Amino acid sequence: MFIADKDLKKEIIEVVESSEKILFVVSPYIDIDDSTKKAFKELHDDVSKIIIYRDNSSVNTAAGISEQSRRFFKSLPFVELVAVKDLHAKAYLNERFAVISSMNLTKSSNENFEVGWNIDAEEESEDFFELWGYIMHILESDKCDFSEERFKNIIPKKPFIIDKEGPKVLINGREVEDEVFRNLHKSCNVKHGICIRCSNTSLEFYTRRPLCLSCFKEWNIYKNPYFKENYCHRCGLEFKTDLNSPLCDSCNHVFLFEMEREWKKLMNIFKTK
Ligand SMILES: [Zn+2]
Ligand SMILES: [Zn+2]
Repeated sequence: MFIADKDLKKEIIEVVESSEKILFVVSPYIDIDDSTKKAFKELHDDVSKIIIYRDNSSVNTAAGISEQSRRFFKSLPFVELVAVKDLHAKAYLNERFAVISSMNLTKSSNENFEVGWNIDAEEESEDFFELWGYIMHILESDKCDFSEERFKNIIPKKPFIIDKEGPKVLINGREVEDEVFRNLHKSCNVKHGICIRCSNTSLEFYTRRPLCLSCFKEWNIYKNPYFKENYCHRCGLEFKTDLNSPLCDSCNHVFLFEMEREWKKLMNIFKTK
């Protein structure tokens, strides 16, 4: 979605505020105002904060980050300040969404004409992970001093995202054949699935087909993927589920954990072939 000016600033603050695991600020010039400071202060301590700014040492001008901002960031836990030569890109992202923008994180930008675009990690996963990859590319380049050691310490694992609402399943933005996706389920620690409408237990555990045959026939009359059903497809507890989200919260958590584990195994097989 296109965003401009003051709304863009709000969106950037929203990226900061909604970070739960990791936050990247990529801004050549940094001189933060009070509202930005407040957003950072309210973050959970565990959030890894990677602040990437422009290294101006070769051109002998002041560094891209103001002294006051540097001191502020240094006072927070889990912060890495990374100076990058020739940095001109501006982007803000956490594990859930990103903003690409013309705006630096400076007080003076608040008065500028600025344009930007936001990207949702689940709905636009391909774009999101391309941006994520590009930031990794900056950090790995020889224009910054971010060593591999520092890198490993601060960057948690990439978020794991399954998008199964479209015609093709996407895992971290990569298209996955139905058969492969179905097979990943077989390695989850679940004996069978439970129909989310009638709690019948005679079906396979497969999150793209969480209805038994007769309930599916009923569902197929209206084909409403958001129609509220009664049970969790994994544990069978009463829970407001639907065709797109057939698991209760705790089963969804376990499901993602198991799928990520299986997905990694699969990716390793590809790598070694
Ligand atoms: Zn049923
Ligand atoms: Zn459940």
